[in-house]
Amino acid sequence: MNPQHIKPALLQFLSTDEILEDASAWLTDQRRRYTGTADAVVQPKSVAAVQKLMRFCFENRIPVTPQGGNTGLCGAAVPEGGVLLNLSKLNRIRSINLADNAVTVDAGAVLQTVQEAAAAAGRLFPLSLASEGSCQIGGNIACNAGGLNVLRYGTMRDLVLGLEVVLPDGELVSHLHPLHKNTTGYDLRHLFIGSEGTLGVITGATLKLFALPKTVETVWVGVDSIEQAVELLTLVQGGFAERLCSFELVSRFALALSSDFSGIGQPVDAPWHILLELAD
Ligand SMILES: Cc1cc2nc3c(=O)[nH]c(=O)nc-3n(C[C@H](O)[C@H](O)[C@H](O)COP(=O)(O)OP(=O)(O)OC[C@H]3O[C@@H](n4cnc5c(N)ncnc54)[C@H](O)[C@@H]3O)c2cc1C
Repeated sequence: MNPQHIKPALLQFLSTDEILEDASAWLTDQRRRYTGTADAVVQPKSVAAVQKLMRFCFENRIPVTPQGGNTGLCGAAVPEGGVLLNLSKLNRIRSINLADNAVTVDAGAVLQTVQEAAAAAGRLFPLSLASEGSCQIGGNIACNAGGLNVLRYGTMRDLVLGLEVVLPDGELVSHLHPLHKNTTGYDLRHLFIGSEGTLGVITGATLKLFALPKTVETVWVGVDSIEQAVELLTLVQGGFAERLCSFELVSRFALALSSDFSGIGQPVDAPWHILLELAD
């Protein structure tokens, strides 16, 4: 299809406010290292609209790049022509089920919104990273985000109970069950987690929730070497088991950059620093 005809054709099934007029802001990544091009940038408001879009692009051989918060840092959400499918308008918290310890959300829900919704219900959604104010659950799943709490709660792969995905030809695969003890058959969700948008568009997810910690202790430690840091990690894991949530190693060089930028003094002078968090 002639690229100039794509936008008018999309109006057959998308409303005018689902197709962006000025799309330049969506074509460059966070660090401004990559800038792409797109024949159309769309923000569908429903799963049905995503299905129609995918079917149309499939039939007309138009490439589609899914995009969440565009915080992925390596340019994977920057399009090279075709349609840029931004999920920002698909952003509802669909339901929270305390008995199942689970929340079901649209893929475009911002991570921090999901954390806050869980906290308001007296639960913890533990994925936490510096981009949490703008990255989206779909993006977190598509790149299997890790963040600060992996030691205790695992990566996004460990936090997803069910997925809803639109396949390239528009077919909807929906497995949004909150069942923790699902032992049957193939587990398709693991194909899509970490697939970076190459296998389909994630439109919804059911995620695990946990108890909110009652006590949190944060500790800053200076050590002489990475070997010493590993020794400390081994010791703390032996003493505190899963109560160790975070253990971040920071070099003197990186800490100096951060300290210069923020104007906050360095807590101790050492070649290596560890920021660790214990929660109970
Ligand atoms: C300051 C900062 C700190 C960070 N810290 C960490 C960290 O500690 N740990 C960590 O793992 N990562 C970290 N990241 C990177 C992190 O992976 C992203 O912030 C986040 O997980 C990506 O989500 P996003 O919505 O921005 O996805 P995007 O950047 O928009 O997309 C990322 C990939 O997922 C695909 N995609 C997006 N949405 C969908 C969807 N709905 N369906 C299918 N495919 C989709 C895109 O095509 C692309 O391939 C950090 C980033 C920043 C800017």
